[in-house]
Formats: sequence, structure tokens, C-alpha cells
Amino acid sequence: MTNLAVVLEDSARQEPDREAVVFGELRLSYALVDALANQVANLLVSRGVRRGDKVALACPNLPYFPFVYFGALKIGATVVPLNVLLTAREIAYHLDDSDAVALFCFEGTPELPLGQRGWEGFQQAERCEHFIALPASAGARESAIEGAESLWAALDGQSPVFATVETEPQDTAVILYTSGTTGRPKGAELSHLNMLMNAMVSDTMFERKTDGGQDVYLAVLPLFHSFGQTVVLNAGFLRRGRLVLLPRFDASAALDLMEREGVTLFAGVPTMFWGLLNAAEGRDAAAAAKELATAVSGGSPMPLEVLRAFEAAFGVTVLEGYGLSETSPVASFNQYTRPTKPGTIGFPIWGVQMKLVGPDGEEVTEGPGEIAVRGHNVMKGYYKRPEATAEVLRDGWLRTGDIATRDADGYYTIVDRAKDLIIRGGFNVYPREVEEVLMTHPGVSLAAVVGVPHEQHGEEVKAFVIRTADSGLTEEELIAWARENMAAFKYPRTVEFRDALPMTATGKILKRELR
Ligand code: AMP
Repeated sequence: MTNLAVVLEDSARQEPDREAVVFGELRLSYALVDALANQVANLLVSRGVRRGDKVALACPNLPYFPFVYFGALKIGATVVPLNVLLTAREIAYHLDDSDAVALFCFEGTPELPLGQRGWEGFQQAERCEHFIALPASAGARESAIEGAESLWAALDGQSPVFATVETEPQDTAVILYTSGTTGRPKGAELSHLNMLMNAMVSDTMFERKTDGGQDVYLAVLPLFHSFGQTVVLNAGFLRRGRLVLLPRFDASAALDLMEREGVTLFAGVPTMFWGLLNAAEGRDAAAAAKELATAVSGGSPMPLEVLRAFEAAFGVTVLEGYGLSETSPVASFNQYTRPTKPGTIGFPIWGVQMKLVGPDGEEVTEGPGEIAVRGHNVMKGYYKRPEATAEVLRDGWLRTGDIATRDADGYYTIVDRAKDLIIRGGFNVYPREVEEVLMTHPGVSLAAVVGVPHEQHGEEVKAFVIRTADSGLTEEELIAWARENMAAFKYPRTVEFRDALPMTATGKILKRELR
């Protein structure tokens, strides 16, 4: 059995009564999630959707996500999870580009008017035939979207039993859209084997709950993104854990849930760690996180200052890993088998190889060079884009666009993304390095550095900074300080203070927008 749905099915068979999903006051057992997934599978079959068809899912972290995701997988369909911030036009593009025949779409809330955008996107799309609304009020038989069908009405009479379709290991399980380095979003095709192996290997790297109790995952990374999907949803279900869902990152709500539910594993992007740290001020963070055994960071560079402060406040080691949608996503990790090295992304996970390559593709042992990855986690390719695929996949090695170095022990350190590199007057400035230095200033809470066009130097270094509370730091002071602490070509010539920085739905700082 290679169908990715096995991560749910096996748990439902072995531990039917265990809680799989918690959302507010709602608690669903594995047996119930599996039964609902079976109903979704039967619904899809009754509508003529078949193995190999594409089924799109636009839904934040709500109980709907797992059972629609696994329901579609059970029939051998490919799931196309969509970013919940997409506009109607973008939704139409994703539906057409992926050849989706059905869209399951959350109706949304006043803050997240996803349902209306999904409905409009569906009308604009050329080939998508079925629209199923996921109502904002649980169990609602009528959809709030005029003309749309409610999931609960559609599931009526569908059997909670379904024989999962045996898929081939190389069949596509999911298509995850990513902007890659250039152009419009492309769909990374990931097989059942890709996704299963990555979830399984990820699971072996996390500290287990030693008393035999249930592991509890804070599911705040969006499940539509590869990081949350593999590390939280698939690895969490594989371990028969309990997923505590949070549809939007809210640091103080996350901290409350951590305490109330006894969260044992937290996986997040660095801005979430930063948010939790701020929310924990004046609170006993270690008490709120008393059950926390594993904290996993990934998705963007973890500033050392944040990592150390988090470890001190929460009393837990932060393990940083690295990967991308195209690698399912985990490629390297600070694994327990060897000492962790803060500031590095660890070493390749089991069964995966990494190397650094120079501009002509030649291997450079210590780097800096571009990370290339080969192994069971590497995507099949970009859906219907042989040229874009050939650009990044050569002889099984995936070119990542990320620049790194490797130390004598084989640990990798990300220098920066190739596309974020600033070239100032012929010198290379890696924003990450400048950010790390800026964040050691006591008045700086978070920094993001970008290159802005400059007549004389081509590009100039600019910093966007969130100050620590009550810090009266001025632009002149910070620039003067930076000048003392960095080479002349690196220090920022302009600083803009902000209360917040633009972020993706996953919580990564949007450098593109800052530029
Ligand atoms: P995505 O496809 O959205 O998962 O984004 C993948 C990109 O995130 C990678 O190509 C890296 O640029 C970045 N990334 C992921 N993990 C890390 C990390 N630990 N440190 C620095 N950058 C990271």
C-alpha cells in the first residue's frame, strides 16, 4: 500500500478512539476523520471524479482540511491545495493550470472572504466542474454562497466505508504551487512515495513522548503549504498524534493552546518563534510549554538571536531544518543522532544527498555554492512544464537557488537565496548576514534587509526594522552603529522603522514587497 492516505487509515484502524483533530471545542477521533474522508471519497466517485483527476482544496487549518485531503487521496486523485490568500483571478489560474475538476472551498469569514473569491474563481475557470462549499458554520446544509452546494448536503447518504484505491508509488499525490525563482506559480508534482517518505523520515527525527502518551501538535503552519502538510499533518497522523488546529497565527492564542492542550511538538517559521517570544513577555513561557519536547524551525533563516532567546524562555531546543516545496519539503535537519549546531540547517536527512555547486555546475566542497538535492524527496517535476523542470532538475539533482556553505562535519549553513543577493558596487552583500548583525542591537527586534536601486552603486542596502518596545532608536543611531559593526560595503545606508513586516500566508517575510 503506497497511498499516502495510509497515514490516516492505519491510525484509524489501530487507535480509532484517539483524538485526531481539535478545533476550539470540537474534538474529532481518528475513526470519525476516516469515516468523513470515506464519505468524501464516495461523494467524488458518485460525481464521476476518478483516479488521476485533480481535486483542488482551498481551506485554512480547519477540520475540513484533513478529511477532504485524505478523501480525495483515497480515490487515487491528486490533491491541489491552494493558498487561502489567492484572489478570484489567481484561483481561476490555479484551477486551469492544474486541470482541477473539483474545488472544495471554505466559505470564509469577514476577515477571510475566501468563499466568494473561490466561487468567482470557479466561474472564471474553464474546466472545473464541481464546486463544494465548506460552510463556516459546522454542519450547515445550505451554503452561504448563493448557487453553491454545501458539503454537508452533498455528503448526505454517502457511505462512511470506502476501499482505498491502490496507487503506484510514482503516482502524483499532490501538486503544490510555488513561485520558484521566476515567473508565474508552478505546480510541483509530488508522488505518494515523495510525501510518505518525507513524513516518515521527518517523524523519526523528532523527540517522542516517552511516557507512551499521545503527541500533541500545534497545527499553525498552513496545511496547504508543504512544511505544515508533511511535518504536521502527515507526520502527525502517522504518529497517531493529536493536531490542535489554529487557522491564523495569533501568538497569544497559540501560547494559550500550547498550555491548554499540552502541546509536545511545535513546528513554525522563524517569525512565529519571534511572535511567541514577544507574546510570552511577562508570562511564564516555560510553564505554558511544559510538555513541549520538540520545536522545529524552517521555511526561512532563523536569526540566532531569536533561537537563543526562545530556547532560554521556553526551555526547549530549537531544531532547524531546510527544504522547499520541490523537496516534499524536508531536505536537511539538525538531527538528534549528532549534536545540533544552531545557525546551521543540519545535514541531509536519511536517504537524501546534498551538494554545493558553482555557477557552471561543478561541485564546490565547502562553498559558498548553490545547494543541489537528490533523493526520495525530490519532485517529479513541474506539472506540464518540461522546460521549467529541465532548468532545475538535472540528472536527478534539484537546483534549489539557495546559497550555502558546508563545514568539515557536513553541516550546511544558508548564506542566502541567490535571488535575494544584493550587489552593491560590485560587492556581494548577503542580506541574511546584515540582518543577523542588526538583530544583535538591543533596540532591534526584527530586521529585514533588501537591495534598492541606486544610481552609483547599482544597488544600495536598506533595512526595515521593527524596534523593541520602548526603544527610542533613531535611523542615524542605528546606521552609525551598523557602520561600526560591518564592512563599509555592507552596512545599510537607509533604515525604515515599521510596526509590522509584510508576510506570506506561511509567515515568511515578503522581501519582494519590501523591495
Ligand atoms: P517553499 O517552497 O515555499 O517551501 O520555500 C522554499 C525556500 O524557503 C527555500 O528555497 C529557501 O530559500 C527557504 N528556506 C527554507 N528553509 C530555510 C532555512 N532553514 N533557512 C533559510 N532559508 C530557508
